[in-house]
Amino acid sequence: MDIRNLKGIGDKKATLMHKLGIYTTKDLINYFPRTYEKYDEPKCVSELETDTLVSVKGKVVKRPLIKRTKSMTIVTAILVDENGDTANMIWFNSPFITKTINIGENYIFRGIIRNDGHGKKIEHPEVITLSNYRVLQSSLKPVYSLTKGISNKVLSDCIKSALAHETIVEYLPKSLIKENKLIDLNLAYKNIHFPANKEEAISAKNRLVFDEFFLFISAIRWMKRENVEIRSSFKMEHKKKIEDIISSLSFKLTNSQARALKDVLNDMESGFVANRLIQGDVGCGKTIVAELALTEVVLNGYQGAIMVPTEVLAAQHYEDITSLYEKCGLDINVCLLTGSKTAAEKRKIYEKLKNHEIDIVVGTHALFQEKVIYDNLALVITDEQHRFGVKQREALGNKGNMPHTIVMSATPIPRTLAIILYGDLNVSVIDEMPSNRIPIKNCVVDTSYRPNAYRFINNQIKEGRQAYVICPMVEESEEMDIENVTDYVDKLKKIYPPSVIIEGLNGRMKPKEKNEIMERFARGDINILISTTVVEVGVNVPNATVMMIENAERFGLAGLHQLRGRVGRGKYQSYCIFINTSNSKESKKRLEILNNSNDGFYIANEDLKLRGSGDLFGVRQSGDMYFKIGDIIEDSDILMKASSSVDSLDENEDLSEEELINLNIKKEEYYNEIIKSINL
Ligand code: ADP
Ligand code: MG
Repeated sequence: MDIRNLKGIGDKKATLMHKLGIYTTKDLINYFPRTYEKYDEPKCVSELETDTLVSVKGKVVKRPLIKRTKSMTIVTAILVDENGDTANMIWFNSPFITKTINIGENYIFRGIIRNDGHGKKIEHPEVITLSNYRVLQSSLKPVYSLTKGISNKVLSDCIKSALAHETIVEYLPKSLIKENKLIDLNLAYKNIHFPANKEEAISAKNRLVFDEFFLFISAIRWMKRENVEIRSSFKMEHKKKIEDIISSLSFKLTNSQARALKDVLNDMESGFVANRLIQGDVGCGKTIVAELALTEVVLNGYQGAIMVPTEVLAAQHYEDITSLYEKCGLDINVCLLTGSKTAAEKRKIYEKLKNHEIDIVVGTHALFQEKVIYDNLALVITDEQHRFGVKQREALGNKGNMPHTIVMSATPIPRTLAIILYGDLNVSVIDEMPSNRIPIKNCVVDTSYRPNAYRFINNQIKEGRQAYVICPMVEESEEMDIENVTDYVDKLKKIYPPSVIIEGLNGRMKPKEKNEIMERFARGDINILISTTVVEVGVNVPNATVMMIENAERFGLAGLHQLRGRVGRGKYQSYCIFINTSNSKESKKRLEILNNSNDGFYIANEDLKLRGSGDLFGVRQSGDMYFKIGDIIEDSDILMKASSSVDSLDENEDLSEEELINLNIKKEEYYNEIIKSINL
């Protein structure tokens, strides 16, 4: 059912919900909380610690003040607790808050405590009556990822009515539920959104994670079943030219790179359809392996394609591969195909792909639009594959005559898990860095270090280097203490002389704009690039030597590691500055892990150890985008269970007819969802 049919959701709200990827009531119930908050015993003013979310009991005795500026309304009020101590409270753009407060009446005010030097201040507190607070204390509050205009309460209420509307059918066979100690699916959906306590939330999460893995693995097996050991229609022989290209490179391949390349070439020359995962930490040099594999395909008279998750990365790979061919004097036609090309341009490219005027196409998901027909596509490579759904990979794989497929990933997943996830895919691991690399120097600091950082960046710029600054947000938001790209650009422009070129980059810009800025940065025409995490994957500008990450505590370690991987890619000493704006011990400990190591596998493991299993919804571990709620590393035990359940069901003949039907309906539904998104 369309969400607009729910009470209280009109066109305006629906449009905002679409931003969150929510279109139907089913999407709503599958929009899981990011974390939960507990309602603690209320505190009094003298007990408040800064930078923590706290409930304070007290009353307002003087009428709140409302101040209107050009861009916002600010409400301030003074809280008085039972000891007569006071604290300031402040609300942004919420003038209606004054209506919810009766002067002289006791409430619970719940917000984050700040101290800006003028005493303690409670930021944007929720106003809750004492009796309501008692009710809340007997539950956990789900916290959702939001967009401007949709509050947590609105979303939570919508989910409640969606739950009442959706019929959820238990589709897992009883034996399987029992064996894996799972709770009922209906209960899981209810408890993931409205748990009474932590135990309920955990059992709900475990059930939903299990389902997600179970269905995914079933679908993978289904797809792969026919793919094993298929004779390839693309006869491939080894080309000596590959060695010539390798020896013309400005660097020597590492042993791991050479091995991965050999694996791939052997696969393709074997006469069977190749399926391989190349895994290696950021900066280990996966691109050249891909390029060489594509080259062999072209030298054999076939076409090849490489698909990447962002336009920025596509443009960069395109530059990289064309300059390689130019240097080697190879006459190979490469083209860039992305969503931002005009319809006319695309038509031209389709035409050229069909009659083989193009040998290699580099692009984003535009590559697997239905209209694209290849003459003889023999190899499909997907880079940074964890950013793609399996659906996109399969869609591209289904073009023409079963091409060879290679997926490349920097996600550090253990081999055993990789095999479960990718089925019969063979795995090559690149586990060494090019020998000319100088390890990145790291530091974790608080905001007082900023002036030093800016000076340091300035010195690097004077030496000809470049810098990235990462902010979590695009523009100003309700959460005042989170840095955003827009304001940061203005701020740094005031600090640096005009000769220092500073630009902002974010995911909301038009692809063309983004590419332009990235190209200018790659050319060295921009000194400081202030960006959201859009630069997280794959971007390669070896001259950039400083990565400064604002609000580092807000990112997952895997993401931070990827971000840091944007520097230290060339011959210069590089630096990563993590700005930690939180006072919490846990954040500090987490960031210390990054401070101590540049090794992706080590970081993933340490992170896991640190958080243990008690942490319900931490920042996602693997950065893997396949799954909404499951995390292949953190929930690896459930992944294993789901995998063996899929196996055991394949052999189980004791299922009742009803169980079989329900199971197959669900599997098919999941499978169809995959197919549907191919035709987007
Ligand atoms: P990733 O594995 O993260 O995709 P890239 O393929 O982008 O890494 O490589 C990062 C940088 O390292 C590039 O500038 C590339 O030219 C360079 N590089 C790749 N292999 C080697 C090598 N064996 N020795 C030195 N530099 C290399
Ligand atoms: Mg890469």
